[in-house]
Amino acid sequence: MRKHSLSENGGFGRAVESMTKLFLSIQNLKGVGQKRFAVYQKIGVHTPYDLLYYLPRTYRDYREPMPVAETVPDQTAVVRVTIISKRRPIHARGGLEIFCADAEDADGTPLSIRIFNNFYGFQALKVGETYSMCGKITMNGDRREIHAPQLHREEDAPIEAIYPQTTGLTSAMVRTNIRECLQLLDEAPFETLPPEIRERYVLMPLPKSMHAIHAPETMEETEEAHRRLAFEEMLRLQLGLRLLRRRSAQATDYPMQNVEMQPYFDSLPFTLTKAQMRAVGEIIGDLSGGEPMNRLLQGDVGSGKTAVAAAACYCCVKNGCQCALMAPTEILAGQHFRTLQQFLAPLGIEVCLLTGSLKAKEKRELYAKIADGTVHVVVGTHAVFQKAVEYRKLALVITDEQHRFGVAQRAALAEKGGVPHKLVMSATPIPRTLALMVYGDLDVSVLDVMPSGRKPVETYAVTGKLRARAMGFVIRELEQGRQAYIVCPAVEEGESDLKSVTAYAEEMGSTYLKGWRTDILHGQLPAQEKDAAMEKFRRHETDVLICTTVVEVGVDVPNATVMVIEDAERFGLSQLHQLRGRVGRGEQQSYCILVTEHVSEESKERLRLLCSTTDGFKVAEADLELRGPGDFFGNMQHGLPPMKLADLTDTKMLYQVQEAAEWLLADDPDLQKEEHHALYMDIVRLFARYGENGLN
Ligand code: ADP
Ligand code: MG
Repeated sequence: MRKHSLSENGGFGRAVESMTKLFLSIQNLKGVGQKRFAVYQKIGVHTPYDLLYYLPRTYRDYREPMPVAETVPDQTAVVRVTIISKRRPIHARGGLEIFCADAEDADGTPLSIRIFNNFYGFQALKVGETYSMCGKITMNGDRREIHAPQLHREEDAPIEAIYPQTTGLTSAMVRTNIRECLQLLDEAPFETLPPEIRERYVLMPLPKSMHAIHAPETMEETEEAHRRLAFEEMLRLQLGLRLLRRRSAQATDYPMQNVEMQPYFDSLPFTLTKAQMRAVGEIIGDLSGGEPMNRLLQGDVGSGKTAVAAAACYCCVKNGCQCALMAPTEILAGQHFRTLQQFLAPLGIEVCLLTGSLKAKEKRELYAKIADGTVHVVVGTHAVFQKAVEYRKLALVITDEQHRFGVAQRAALAEKGGVPHKLVMSATPIPRTLALMVYGDLDVSVLDVMPSGRKPVETYAVTGKLRARAMGFVIRELEQGRQAYIVCPAVEEGESDLKSVTAYAEEMGSTYLKGWRTDILHGQLPAQEKDAAMEKFRRHETDVLICTTVVEVGVDVPNATVMVIEDAERFGLSQLHQLRGRVGRGEQQSYCILVTEHVSEESKERLRLLCSTTDGFKVAEADLELRGPGDFFGNMQHGLPPMKLADLTDTKMLYQVQEAAEWLLADDPDLQKEEHHALYMDIVRLFARYGENGLN
């Protein structure tokens, strides 16, 4: 029986002590010395409480041994066999001692047992006795053998948890440490979910879930426990995002008036799409609504987010305020600067570019202009938020490619100069169910219409055999005065981007691309060289840009009409979709050629999908379906804490979690009530810890 009541375990004092221990260093557990401590640190386990959330990868069920005849060679199996005879040890080369025994299972199927260098393990086997054991099955002729099996003793738990493989940490070690954690938890029963929530959604209590996950008696209880922990995980994320949002949902320090937007619309070289108009309307509504704006502007590459952002700037500047736009790279900052300049300068709005590579003197001059308000719109990299930059009246902060900025930055933005309005732009389309989760702290405007005249990028998947033809196609485009991107092959292990790009570029330059002007671009180039390469390409001083995925985000060169992606199978669909968005930005028909070698049926299917649609949302949904949420979620660089348990395609649970979060916050808007303290602290820990390495 498990005990959960205080009195049976020594009363209040003992409970306090145990509870405290749950949150002290993991070093206090038996058997955790310097070495194991270091391993635990590495996997993010700092306290016994953390260890409880370190979950098994799978289970080994000793209650249902497999008939020997059904075991699969090269796989691990649990069998139950009787020892028939033991043989004399064999002394192999290199001092290896091999012990063998012959056994058979209840059906009479023979099995040889081989034990290496373990005299005592061999001694423990008695002829005529029956044992459950687990080990890897191999074939010796037509006879099965089990190698170095682990014996299961009668007193051991019937189901054994197996933990993720980590160097220096065996599952047995983790099990021992967890046993102690479970004891601590029993002595001080602890719960993070309020009873109403647990009842309403039929969720197991925490101590019971932890027992069921780490030391289960049946697999059914494990499933139920898993559901509770997944629910809790999603709820923490959801509540955290809503709290973030709430923190900034005070009255804005920068209330704005509606302004006449027509002069801005008139100055544009094109008419805004319906979707752009709608987004502009939503933004202006936010800006003049009394609360700080917290809006995500989501739209596929090329949907025209910048023109919408510029409209927000226009409104803001007409209200006598300043705006800052932050991009993740200097290349993108430069591009935004040029676009905003083009849209806004004719209207008398002063736009400047602030990046790390400015000279000290230029920086000083710029800082002065920002401080006195001569400059209205500041575009740049992280530099725009450095301490030295003082704004006269910063009322709107726009960030581009929001998935590169973590929760920590989203939170930090609110700190600069009162509570500014925030607009984040993202070209990563994500399925609706996920959006609920990921953008819980933001309102969303979607640009779901492409500017007219835009032709969808024609996409083809070919094998390496057709590379010559693919390159012939590229050349024909170049001959018509167009430009091309080639995304380099994957970097070999131990090789740098630099080496691989350079080697590849040289090879291409001396073969297919002979006579054409090529350049390279990759992440290890200094910022200035990157910008220079991009700038030359933009001015059509180079014909072909050979690059890594640096070129992925936001780069706009309308004359580039073809992209070749080598080793396309290494990318997720969403990422490929982002990449191909670099072409098709002008009036010409554009093409994307995906080159793959040795691909599985599954990869082929993925790539076929990409060839058949250019709808980013469809691509994202397929990505989610084909690769599962973990992978998809991980690859999005959405800047949110990683989910370990929650299945983000589980729509039902997603809605329940939304409901639970709303319900909890309606009762306790800041989660400051005593009974929500544990949950609140978990959320704080989740966000704080993730924030540390959430920057990139
Ligand atoms: P993204 O959403 O990928 O950031 P951009 O804002 O860079 O897209 O816009 C892509 C290109 O489309 C730019 O050259 C921009 O000037 C142009 N563009 C934006 N809106 C329209 C429109 N309504 N009609 C025609 N072209 C537009
Ligand atoms: Mg853009």
